[in-house]
Formats: sequence, structure tokens, C-alpha cells
Amino acid sequence: MGTIGVPSAADLSQSADVVIVGGGIIGVATAFWVGRAGLSVVCLERRDALGSLTTALSEECFRAQFTEPANIRMMKASIEFFERFAEVTGLEDCDLGLRQHGYLFVSAADEGPQLLRERVELQRRHGLDDVEYLDGDEVRRRFPFIGPRATAGTFRARDGWLSTHALTYGMARATAGGRFWVRTEATGLIVDSHGVAAVETNRGRIATRRVVLATGPFAAVTAARFGAMVPVTAVRRHKVVITGYPVIPESAPMTIDDGTGAYWRPESGGAALGWALPEPPMEPSETVPTDWTFPALVLEAVSELSPLWEGIAARLRREQVYLSAGQYPCTPDNNPVIDAYDPIPGLYLNIGYGGHGIMASPEGGRLMAELLMGRMPAEVQPFRLNRFATGGQAARESMVI
Ligand SMILES: Cc1cc2nc3c(=O)[nH]c(=O)nc-3n(C[C@H](O)[C@H](O)[C@H](O)COP(=O)(O)OP(=O)(O)OC[C@H]3O[C@@H](n4cnc5c(N)ncnc54)[C@H](O)[C@@H]3O)c2cc1C
Repeated sequence: MGTIGVPSAADLSQSADVVIVGGGIIGVATAFWVGRAGLSVVCLERRDALGSLTTALSEECFRAQFTEPANIRMMKASIEFFERFAEVTGLEDCDLGLRQHGYLFVSAADEGPQLLRERVELQRRHGLDDVEYLDGDEVRRRFPFIGPRATAGTFRARDGWLSTHALTYGMARATAGGRFWVRTEATGLIVDSHGVAAVETNRGRIATRRVVLATGPFAAVTAARFGAMVPVTAVRRHKVVITGYPVIPESAPMTIDDGTGAYWRPESGGAALGWALPEPPMEPSETVPTDWTFPALVLEAVSELSPLWEGIAARLRREQVYLSAGQYPCTPDNNPVIDAYDPIPGLYLNIGYGGHGIMASPEGGRLMAELLMGRMPAEVQPFRLNRFATGGQAARESMVI
């Protein structure tokens, strides 16, 4: 079982097989699999609590409907982990808050039927055999809140959302022998002729031969402190939660406009909404400023296909709207980097999960643990750092949200 707390000097004097820097969902999921592999693991988080930066600000959703085979495989495996959470972790008492209402992508385009049919065929070829193609009438029959503009849709019933807090703390608790040190900041790396020798923190030094960087939007900043360079930028993303609207169907799926990417889903008697509008990268930040024009924009956008939102938007009062913003940790191709950092032996990267870090965390953590054990599973190849080198082959995910 894992321990979470502020470490004493004696705690820090104990070495670890692996030290993970960053206690968001990616660092914690990595710790879980490292502990399971029988290695001793310390996870460092500089904030007061695990999972309290980007992880706490997400929409908490998961889907296997992607177009890149590597992403389909990764999310399918992660969703299976969520479904079998109690069995895999041994935590019978942990309620992940799993809501498998499905993900519904809806198109309003004339070419929607052809595009979505082709996409479903591609997904099926890559093992996603439970995604359905729906024509416009079938979308409206199954989901009566969808309006006349819909021409086609795709639906997968096992997609959905969960509690990221329960997931983070469940995995930490289930980490065999895991030590999760909060208020503990990694400030540097000590390297000797063999590679990594220790991590320097604000509380003292921890001896280790393997360090995993999992600092989310701060990946490039932390890497620079360690003498490394990584292609991760921080891009602002908003989330809107509205309360007190029973007219929003509680059983609705995550509903996404396939053309614009604007989305909504039910949440505790109201809804959570979002839209990945283009924004330039910004400095990584602990507190991300919000833009109060966003709620009106997203409400208008989701009204296009789900007309029930027009009525809600017209009556909505500001005190019913909760607006927050975090930062996607983005790589140039929006897929993560799961790899060893070759110039510094013993330094590993588990970073750059963009808008998919919650849904990808179990499998991303497992793959990182495989690398730490000296193995190189084929599934890691698409996520290696060298894909960004000149002539490298970067994956092209078309369903980035
Ligand atoms: C609005 C929004 C909606 C989203 N919706 C979804 C969604 O529906 N589904 C989904 O899968 N993903 C979603 N995401 C993306 C998801 O939240 C991220 O991909 C994920 O949380 C990244 O996890 P992480 O552990 O890499 O980063 P973080 O959660 O940011 O964790 C990194 C941690 O590292 C710590 N740290 C940094 N530097 C140091 C240091 N030097 N020493 C010690 N600790 C350090 C930080 O304090 C932080 O806690 C969304 C993101 C946003 C902003």
C-alpha cells in the first residue's frame, strides 16, 4: 500500500529504485505499475496534494474512438483497466465513479455520412469492434436532444467519464510500497559516470539510478533543470460547469460536434462543457487565468446540434456557471512521449499527454514501467522521442479534442 505525506529527513535518506517527479495522474499511474513490478518507488509532488494541478481541472472523460492505431490500442487498454479497477488494484472499497454513458460524435456536414462511415471502418480494422455508425435519423431516434442539422454520428457505449480524484488516490493507495512525498520539489539531477545518481529536492537528496519526468505542463521547465530538452508546451483549455438544470438529460453521453469539437456531458444535475479553441502556447502556470467570454462561446457552439442548449443559454445566470482553466501539456503531434532520454542514462520521460492524460494514464504508466524494467514493448514505438527528429515519423491523430 502507498504512503502519502510530507517526508522527514530520514525518509529522504532512503534510496529508491525509481524516483518519479510529478504527482499528477501520469506520475501516480507510473508509480502504480513500478510498484507492481517489484521496484521501490518514490513519487515527488511539489504541491500540497497529488493530482491537484492539470489532473484536477480536466473534464474526466475517456474514449477509445481515435484514428491513430496506437491511440486506439492505448485507450482501449486503459478503459479495460478502469472497468477492472477493483480486481486489478485489490481495492474493493474504491468507487471510481465510472459513468459509461458513451461518447457520441455528431456531424452536421453533408459529407458527414461518408466521413464517419470511413472512420468507423478504420477503427474496426484496428480492433475497435464496438463503435457504431448512425445515420442522422438514427442519431435523433436514439438521442432525442439532437436537432435536425445532424447528418450522421458515431457512438461507443463503453466510453464515458469517471472521478479523477478517485482514480489518482486509488492508484496511489494501491501502489505496492509506494512513497508519495508532497510539498517536495525536485530541483536538480545529480549525474555521475554511470548516469543518474540522485535527485536533488528542496528537502534533501534522494539516491536513485532511475528518474521519471512526469511534470505535465511543466515538463520543459523541469527537463531544463535536469539538463534535458523536451518538446512540450503549455496550452490553455477552459472547462465550464453549470448547475441546476434538470432539463439536461442525465443519461446523455459525452456529445461532441464532430465539425467544431465543442462538447458537453451531464454532470450532477447540470453539465460540463468544453471546446479546444486554438490558443498560442503560454508559460506553464500554477493558476491559469480564465476568459469570461468562453462560456457564451461554448454554449452557442453546442446549441448548433443540441438545441436544448439555446433555451438554457438564454436563461443562464452567471452564478450558475463555474469556469476554470488549466493547461494541456502538448507535444508537436499531440501524442505523449514515453521514452528513455538517451543523452542522460537513467532519465525517463512520461510527458506531453495533451487532452488525453486521464484516459491514457493506466496504459501510459504501464508502458513506462516496462521501459524501466529494461524492456521495449512494440506499443512504445509510436511514443518515442526520436519521432520528432529530422526525418522522424510523427503519428497523425485526427481526433484531437
Ligand atoms: C480543461 C481541461 C480538460 C481536460 N479534459 C480531459 C479529459 O476529459 N480526459 C482526459 O483524458 N484528459 C483531459 N485533460 C488533460 C489531462 O488533464 C492531462 O493530460 C493530465 O492531467 C496530465 O497529467 P500529468 O500528470 O501529466 O500533469 P499534471 O496533472 O499537471 O501533474 C504534473 C504534476 O507535476 C508537479 N510538478 C511540476 N514540477 C515539479 C517539480 N519540479 N517537482 C515536483 N513536482 C512537480 C505539478 O505540481 C503537478 O502536480 C484535460 C485538461 C484540461 C486543462
